[in-house]
Amino acid sequence: MRTFFLLIFILLQGCSILFSQDIDYARKTINILAAPEMHGRGYVNKGDSLASAFLASEMQQIGLKSFKNSFFQPFNLSVNTLPGNLSLKADGKTLSPCDDYIVYTPSAAIKGTYPVVHISAKTSLKKINKLMKKGLTGKALLIDQRKHDEKTKEIFENARFYNLFKSEANLFLVNKKNPLSWGVYGSHLLLDFASIEIRDSALKKIPKKIELDIESRYFKQYATRNVVGYIEGSQYPDSFFVFTAHYDHLGRMGRDNLFPGAHDNASGTAMLLDLATYYINNRPPYSVAFIATAAEEAGLLGARHYVENPLFPLSNIKFLINLDMVSTGEEGMMVVNGEVFTKQYETLCSINTTGNYLPAIKSRGEAANSDHYPFYVKGVPCFYFYTLGGYSQYHNIYDIEKTLPMTAYNNMFRLVVRFVEQLSKNTD
Ligand SMILES: [Zn+2]
Repeated sequence: MRTFFLLIFILLQGCSILFSQDIDYARKTINILAAPEMHGRGYVNKGDSLASAFLASEMQQIGLKSFKNSFFQPFNLSVNTLPGNLSLKADGKTLSPCDDYIVYTPSAAIKGTYPVVHISAKTSLKKINKLMKKGLTGKALLIDQRKHDEKTKEIFENARFYNLFKSEANLFLVNKKNPLSWGVYGSHLLLDFASIEIRDSALKKIPKKIELDIESRYFKQYATRNVVGYIEGSQYPDSFFVFTAHYDHLGRMGRDNLFPGAHDNASGTAMLLDLATYYINNRPPYSVAFIATAAEEAGLLGARHYVENPLFPLSNIKFLINLDMVSTGEEGMMVVNGEVFTKQYETLCSINTTGNYLPAIKSRGEAANSDHYPFYVKGVPCFYFYTLGGYSQYHNIYDIEKTLPMTAYNNMFRLVVRFVEQLSKNTD
């Protein structure tokens, strides 16, 4: 009897070791990736290189194999960065970066004080055209974007990336309740003016002059890299299941402003490594590859590079799961491509119903919103999973490890493992 209970105990322990190392390891991994030392895994201070070096060493320690004797798959991108001074004063009042304003990454460096010309939806099209024609050399343009009509909408939006007014800086007044979201999309460009978004609550009135000091540095050929490892299947080594998660984030906006990207996407990267550990301890019949992609935020560049230079034939991929923002889950998760690969989606839902893992599994159609997409375009069957509810920090300085709820982490992990197990049975 005693032996029996002991056996049960060992079995249960075995189960929990099988699955529950995860959340501590995941938190630790997220903590490391989102720490200031990783510089937001962007291009200021080579944050991306530091993060990818860490990931390769983790993959090695976990026991993954590499293709072509290296976990790294290098490639270059063109990128503008804001590595140094960053300040904005409106009529002498210093505004707080990230909270009060963000500087679009393709912005030119700028230093000086500029008189402000203000336009809004109330400004007549005639006057706007006149200003464009005359040009605003030596001046800053403040565009009130809180309201616009059909006629001004296009002009106002284009002014973010095109110097329609030949001004030194274009500032866009917006009304946003949540913290402003930054991004590095479009950072392959280098504008000849500064382009800045200002939250209206930061200004008491329209300022007469703006003082700017923004340093920027453009890299035509910046070297970054994907990190790729795999486990060889015991029965079908040429058949692959693939997990992808982008490890890059936005980096730094100016010397002192860090975008940690704990949820986006240190969390998915942590789950990727966690899954690697699981499969090392539970060798699957099929091969499993783990691709930590670079430069997702700059336009899915790591995934795009990978599909043009695959390390094994893309047609050997049975299914791919992309993990991007997986540390919440109060409201379950979303399956991008759920409406495309309906059989696999049904399989996923039925596993979830049986195991009672997540409160809801929602589905949507195709979307070019993360790294599964370049694979999808090449004909690789794939899902992109992100968790829902419980957290609203997105592309801002508050996306930190401490506040991550990790509500569904363990259950989602189990669901993913069971799902792949089921798919492998279906495809054997
Ligand atoms: Zn992301």
